[in-house]
Amino acid sequence: MATVLWFRRDLRIHDNPALVAAVEAAWATGDGNVVPVVLIDPALWPTWGPAKQAYLIDSLRSLDASLADNLVLRHGKAQEVIPAIAIEFGATSVHCASDYSGYGIVRDNEIAATLAKAGIDFVQTGSGYAVAPGRVTKDDGTYYKVYTPFYKRWLIHGWRAPAGDATKAPNWIGVETCDGYPDRPDTRGVVIPKAGEAAALELFETFLAGPIENYDEDRNRPDLAGTSKLSIALKWGEIHPRTLLARLGDSKGHEVFRKEIAWREFYAEVAFQRPDTITDYFNPLYKQMKYDTGKLADEKFAAWCEGRTGYPFVDAGMRQLRTEGWMHNRVRMVVASFLLKDLHIEWQRGANYFFDWLLDGDLASNSHGWQWTAGCGTDASPYYRVFNPLGQGIKFDPNGEYVRKYIPELSHIQDGAVHEPWKVLGGLDHGYPEPIVDHAAERLEALDRLGKLPKGVQQAHNPKGE
Ligand SMILES: Cc1cc2nc3c(=O)[nH]c(=O)nc-3n(C[C@H](O)[C@H](O)[C@H](O)COP(=O)(O)OP(=O)(O)OC[C@H]3O[C@@H](n4cnc5c(N)ncnc54)[C@H](O)[C@@H]3O)c2cc1C
Repeated sequence: MATVLWFRRDLRIHDNPALVAAVEAAWATGDGNVVPVVLIDPALWPTWGPAKQAYLIDSLRSLDASLADNLVLRHGKAQEVIPAIAIEFGATSVHCASDYSGYGIVRDNEIAATLAKAGIDFVQTGSGYAVAPGRVTKDDGTYYKVYTPFYKRWLIHGWRAPAGDATKAPNWIGVETCDGYPDRPDTRGVVIPKAGEAAALELFETFLAGPIENYDEDRNRPDLAGTSKLSIALKWGEIHPRTLLARLGDSKGHEVFRKEIAWREFYAEVAFQRPDTITDYFNPLYKQMKYDTGKLADEKFAAWCEGRTGYPFVDAGMRQLRTEGWMHNRVRMVVASFLLKDLHIEWQRGANYFFDWLLDGDLASNSHGWQWTAGCGTDASPYYRVFNPLGQGIKFDPNGEYVRKYIPELSHIQDGAVHEPWKVLGGLDHGYPEPIVDHAAERLEALDRLGKLPKGVQQAHNPKGE
C-alpha cells in the first residue's frame, strides 16, 4: 500500500499541503509509504526555453536532496504515466496541488477519470496561490476585471496560515524506478541562479532584513537591489506566497509588497476565468490595431531581442534578460512598450520571446503584463500609455549604473549621460548603435494607429508620455 505524491509547480517540502495530505493518507491506509514523483512531460518540457529547463533540473536536484535522494523522476505523458505509477505501487490515492491553468485543468480531469476507473482517488490539496482562483468574486459571483477592487476583496477573503508538517515522517519509496534526469541544456549564456527551496527562503530572509523597508520607493529602481527577486521561486513553487504573506506587517514597504503579490493572484484569476487571454486579446476591440510584419519588422524585432535598439535603457533590459533570465519590472514595462508602440510589433511576439527566456516565465503574469502595456488588457488606463524610453531611464536609473552594467560599449560614459550617448563626444565610439527609430515620431504613429480604432477604444493620451 502506498500513496503517490506528484510534485508539479510546488517544488518544496515545507508549507506544502499536498505533501501533508499524501503522508497522512499513507499512514491512515497503510504503513506510511509515499512515492514522490516528478514528471518530465513531453507536452510541456520543450515549451520551456533551455535556461528554464536548466533551472528546473537544479531545482529538482535540490528537492531530491531534501527527500534524501528519493525523488522518482519519470518521463512521459502525465495522463499515461501517473495512473501507471499508481497501479504499479498499488496506491490508494494520488496527491497533488490544484493547477488552474487551462491545460492543467483538462489534463487533471483526464487523470482523475482514469484513476477513478481503477478505484484510486485523485486528491488535490492547496494551490500555488494564497487564495485559489475562483474564490475572490464580486457580490454577483462574477470575477474582477480591475485590480484594485480585486485586491480589496482578496484582503477581506484572507488566506490560511502556512501548512505545518505531517504528524509522522513518511517512508519515501520507489526511487529504484527513477528514469533519471534529463541532460542539462546549454543555457544560451544565461547564468542560472541558485535554485531550490533553501535558496528561496534565503532570498526572502535577505529581502526581509533590509530592502523591504524601502520597497515602496526602491522597487522602481533597476539600479538598486530593491525587489525580492522571488518571482522565479514563486513560479516553481519553491516558496509559497502564503509563506511570504505570513511574515508581512503593516509598514509601507510590507503593504506594497503584499499588493505586488496580489497582482500575481489577480492575473491568475483572470487567466483562470479567461484562458483564451493567454494568447488572445482580453479586449477584442484592440485586435483591429495595425501592427507591422515583414522583413523590416523582423529586423527591428531582432534588434530589440538582442539589445541593440540604440535606446540604452531598453537595451540594458533585454541584455539583462539574456544574461540573467530575469528582468526588473520597471524595465519589462519599458521594453514591452517600446516593442509595441515604437516598433509597432504585436504583443504576442514579445510575450513569446519573454516566455522563452524568463526563468519566472508564467503564462498568466506574462500575457497579462504584456496586455496591460499594450492597453488591451485589464486595468485599462484612462490614457494610452506610451513609455518614453529616455525619460524612464533618466528617472529610474539616474546615475546610469544599470545601463553601464549590461552595456559594456557604454561603460566609458559617466553618470546619467549614458542614457543619451549620442550627445556625448565619442559616446558611440565603442560599437553602440544609433537609435533605430525616432521615439517622438513613433509615439505619434502609435497614437495615430490608436485613433483609427473603433470608437470606445480610443483614449486621450497622457501628455507626459508615460
Ligand atoms: C511585460 C511583462 C511581463 C511579465 N512577465 C512575468 C512573468 O512571466 N512572470 C512573473 O512572475 N512576472 C511577470 N511580470 C511581472 C513582474 O515584472 C515580475 O513579477 C517581477 O519583476 C519579478 O521580480 P521580483 O520577484 O523581484 O518582484 P517583487 O517586486 O519583489 O514582487 C514580489 C512578487 O510579486 C509578484 N509581482 C510583482 N509585480 C507583478 C506584476 N506586475 N504582475 C504579476 N505579479 C507581480 C511576483 O510574483 C513577484 O515575485 C511581467 C511584467 C511585465 C510588465
